[in-house]
Amino acid sequence: MEEDGFIIVPKPNAKRISNPPDFTTRDDDDGGDDGDDAPHFLSEIDSFVNTVAEKLWPLNRFIHQNPELAYKEHKAHDALTSFFQTQPGWVVTRSAYGIPTAWTALFSSPHQPGPTVSFNVEMDALPNLGHACGHNLIATASLAAGLATARVMSAHGLPGRVLILGTPGEEGHDGAKIRLLKAGAYSGVDVSLISHPGILNNSPLVRTTAFARFEVEYFGLAAHGANSPWKGINALDALVVAYNAVSVLRQQTMPDDVIGLSITNGGGPAANVIHAYASGVCVIRASSSARLKVLQAKVEGCFKAGGEATGAEVKIKVIEGYKDHVPNRVLAGSYARYWNKLDDVPEPRIPEGGRVTWVKASTDQGNLSYALPSVNASFAIPPGPERGQPHSRDFEVAAGRREAFDRALRVGKALAGTAVDVLSVEGRVAEVWKEWRRDMERMKEYNYESFGL
Ligand SMILES: [Zn+2]
Ligand SMILES: [Zn+2]
Repeated sequence: MEEDGFIIVPKPNAKRISNPPDFTTRDDDDGGDDGDDAPHFLSEIDSFVNTVAEKLWPLNRFIHQNPELAYKEHKAHDALTSFFQTQPGWVVTRSAYGIPTAWTALFSSPHQPGPTVSFNVEMDALPNLGHACGHNLIATASLAAGLATARVMSAHGLPGRVLILGTPGEEGHDGAKIRLLKAGAYSGVDVSLISHPGILNNSPLVRTTAFARFEVEYFGLAAHGANSPWKGINALDALVVAYNAVSVLRQQTMPDDVIGLSITNGGGPAANVIHAYASGVCVIRASSSARLKVLQAKVEGCFKAGGEATGAEVKIKVIEGYKDHVPNRVLAGSYARYWNKLDDVPEPRIPEGGRVTWVKASTDQGNLSYALPSVNASFAIPPGPERGQPHSRDFEVAAGRREAFDRALRVGKALAGTAVDVLSVEGRVAEVWKEWRRDMERMKEYNYESFGL
């Protein structure tokens, strides 16, 4: 998740929702097979993943013990592609789409045509913190899921394809999923499935925030502050006006809006001058991409005001970050059904009634969710002694334990079940896409008020 922090916060006042958007409730069953019986392929997926566990554990440990930063995941890339090259039926592409550490592994059924299901594999770690975001566990879950899906596909002659993508650089604001999406890596793909560990939630219906970053510069005119200040244009004043305008704006933002602002160049140490240059960085977050656009325009207005008030020239560079994640509730229904039918359901339980889990972080899986149906399941691993959240040292240690790996395998089984439903249930692909199109319509207007608070 994005570097500003990964804090899982249940939506405030969630129980007081009076008029929730449709995807927070389900008016039919949980989206899996009809009835309360165990899903058709559950025991097969369960036992198959258990048999590959000992192959996956060394890979999980290797990634965890060799943390690599964004776009430098060379060891993970080599280990994972080498592994898939030993698996019969998988076609491996190293350094896919011109990205050195991206890769794909594709398994195609001889029975075509059929749906294409995909799983993303995260690999990157954090500066000075190792795998404190637990991306080794994301890799494990997606590997287990992809292998199990291919196994069921082969055993039962199901048509379709399984695509596993190694997706570098999720931390920060330049995730490879956006580049891969633009390069066509997901064209023809019907669903994109992934997961993320934490310590608080088990949930396939996860929303994350949208964010954008501004880099702002003011260009003024230097002058002596005592002799002839009227000859200058004060760039620092322009930035201070903008800072204050943003501070005033904060009174009227929506509850999920966040604006962070820092001064990166205040014009230098001299006080008796008119400052010719000043710069700052601003990061904004909102509950949806639609709301973010509105907030972005307001914040840009504040920066322009600084230039207007002082005469300084303003340059605003907007770096588009990640979109919010829109979970597909048909897919989430499959996931919940498999998760709940596996033995020893862990706490906390998946929220009932299709209740959405909010994660106040951002991920490039959000961008994918605006391009195709997606699930980004949160799962809780046994916490460390300090109950450290992701991006803490305590969580880094917890993410390397066998218990966390075992939990990731359970996630892999539920993700595999979700994919197998897409491949095997009559009409499921159409149902998933119909839901996605409804979500996309809804997200055009989506903001805090959509919750009826
Ligand atoms: Zn992270
Ligand atoms: Zn992460």
